[in-house]
Amino acid sequence: MAVHEKIGEMIEEMTRWRHELHARPETAFYEYWTSAYVAEKLISLGLDIHRGLAGTGIVATIQRGKGKSPAIGLRADMDALDITEATGLPYASLNEGKMHACGHDGHMVMLLGAAKYLAGNDTFRGTVHFIFQPAEENEGGGGRMVREGLFDLFPVQSVFALHNFPVLPEMTFAICKGPMMAAYDVFDIQITGRGGHAATPQNVKDPILASAYLVNLLQSIVSRDVNPTQAAVVSVTEIHGGTSYNIIPDTVRLRGTTRHFLPSAQDRVESRMREICAGLSTSFDVAVDVSYERRYPTLVNTDKEADAAVRAATAVVGSDRVFTDITPVMTSEDFAFLLKERPGAYMGIGAGKTRENGLLHQALYDFNDRILPTGASYWATLVEMILPK
Ligand SMILES: [Zn+2]
Ligand SMILES: [Zn+2]
Repeated sequence: MAVHEKIGEMIEEMTRWRHELHARPETAFYEYWTSAYVAEKLISLGLDIHRGLAGTGIVATIQRGKGKSPAIGLRADMDALDITEATGLPYASLNEGKMHACGHDGHMVMLLGAAKYLAGNDTFRGTVHFIFQPAEENEGGGGRMVREGLFDLFPVQSVFALHNFPVLPEMTFAICKGPMMAAYDVFDIQITGRGGHAATPQNVKDPILASAYLVNLLQSIVSRDVNPTQAAVVSVTEIHGGTSYNIIPDTVRLRGTTRHFLPSAQDRVESRMREICAGLSTSFDVAVDVSYERRYPTLVNTDKEADAAVRAATAVVGSDRVFTDITPVMTSEDFAFLLKERPGAYMGIGAGKTRENGLLHQALYDFNDRILPTGASYWATLVEMILPK
């Protein structure tokens, strides 16, 4: 089957769309221009659209056949990142400090390309909801769409997503059954002591020294507290405190993230973090306030839908280019919120790393336009296989 011929012919148009979106990156929940652009394209294709879920979210629908037809959801993310683009490309970001550095511009276009093909060709029976969601990065726009009634308004039997992976060769696909990406939590810890002259430590309660111990102590959670057969990560990513050579500050603030696949590991990480901070408070005679927030759940692919995704990918690129048993990763994805509600599968599409296009979240990254027809054909094939004519 390979790439759908009619989609292959759309490569120039899809590339133009991708560059237009790339030049106007917008971050979480501020995808106003982006949402209007996508909505305008979907309306021009003749699709019914619903706007407003999670603010800038869009759901477009194609229904074929009579009565209560089976329905599936296909999801693309729309948001960009707070990165200053360094590619120097002619279509580089016009929005200062914002950049499509995770390829969500390409994800939108692959889904728009599939929508155009499916709208113009009578190749399936059933209902397809094209879900364009805001705020995948950090802010959980997918979770907000679910909370605001995504699956009540648009009931589906299963839901699918596609993300580019530059570390894999282009024109490949990658997936695994079960947990594929980790749960994502964040923490904020404030250590409050009593500042003073650096030369008279006997008169102060030093939050800097306490914070240095805390960074080390937190590393004992994974090595000593979590079951070693379960994966977990604790990373301190920010430390803020102090103003000068000779002043011990009153406060130091630390922030970071934790990752894990199993609820038992997650509970253990959180409870030990709280206990260690309580002990630190006693040890250094400082106040330690911990704020721990559970952000994204573990992303779990269901067996039947992962098999369907593999069949569709295999039809497009051949079985030797579909990796069906990849090692799960500790990065996270808010598509996990959709998968908590409905069976489904999250597929990776190889984008190929070149010197020019960099890796995800890098200032030199650029989505690989050569894979646009491959991704759009995956979507179209998935629909045609799950909802045959
Ligand atoms: Zn990202
Ligand atoms: Zn992404």
